[in-house]
Amino acid sequence: MKAVATWHATSTIQAAREACGGAGYLAENILPQLKADTDVFTTFEGDNTVLLQLVAKGLLTSYKQEVQDLSPLETARFVAEQVVDTVIERTSARKVIERIMDASPRRDDEDSLFDRAWQIAAFEDREEHVLDSLVKRLRNAGRDNSFEVFNSAQDHVLRAGRVHVDRIVLEAFVGAIDRCTDPDTKALLERVCDLYALSNIEADRAWFLEHGRFTAQRAKAVVAAVNELCGELRPRARELADAFGIPEQFLAAPIIAD
Ligand SMILES: Cc1cc2nc3c(=O)[nH]c(=O)nc-3n(C[C@H](O)[C@H](O)[C@H](O)COP(=O)(O)OP(=O)(O)OC[C@H]3O[C@@H](n4cnc5c(N)ncnc54)[C@H](O)[C@@H]3O)c2cc1C
Repeated sequence: MKAVATWHATSTIQAAREACGGAGYLAENILPQLKADTDVFTTFEGDNTVLLQLVAKGLLTSYKQEVQDLSPLETARFVAEQVVDTVIERTSARKVIERIMDASPRRDDEDSLFDRAWQIAAFEDREEHVLDSLVKRLRNAGRDNSFEVFNSAQDHVLRAGRVHVDRIVLEAFVGAIDRCTDPDTKALLERVCDLYALSNIEADRAWFLEHGRFTAQRAKAVVAAVNELCGELRPRARELADAFGIPEQFLAAPIIAD
């Protein structure tokens, strides 16, 4: 979570800085200081890349514990049926997620992009496939040179850690929406959650296309949906930012006053 959140903070501040043009570079508009303060978070308290490796190693260890005593046929069955429930353990939102998945008609039309069950299934499927193919890759490479094998699969290892965290964030979001009792806030959070899920898929659509999960048409529909959501949520940006309770002195930038 730390790795993904700090990378997100760094890229968000950069986007905000560029959106303000040269004024974003002025100290009085606070962004340079924010950038300087948050940048190092990607390194200290554990370098982000190394932390994601640790997440992936944890997932591989769970996988090994679950599959080591199984025959090849049982392993295949395990991979097909149980990875999500055991290795890719569901978060505390498990009950809510199950309810959503059970209630979904599982369509594949354009509107289903906004179907929470479709979004969750896309995240779970990606995580399951990435982890499963990583296991196969490491296993096929043999045991003699495990250090080199692991290093040469870095891209795959890091992806396994990353897509795991992405799914955990989505499930935590879904759980928080379920606990929200105010109907207006809940409706707003549902749209922000759509934006989180779809922008994540949008950023990774090469993977979904490469692995035959989407047609090109669907990938384009995801981009259109993200644009639509950005337009819809834009007027509520201040309301959303205020929800974090950021003290006014940290918002005291002349560019906001203007
Ligand atoms: C401002 C600041 C304050 C700090 N405060 C403290 C503190 O209070 N207490 C404390 O104990 N430490 C502190 N640190 C140290 C901090 O924990 C380390 O900087 C951090 O763990 C990264 O280690 P490193 O600097 O040696 O970088 P390295 O580990 O050398 O990382 C350099 C690059 O190599 C990559 N890399 C490293 N290992 C691997 C690997 N196995 N596979 C692939 N890539 C790899 C990294 O991703 C990174 O891109 C602080 C650091 C800073 C900058």
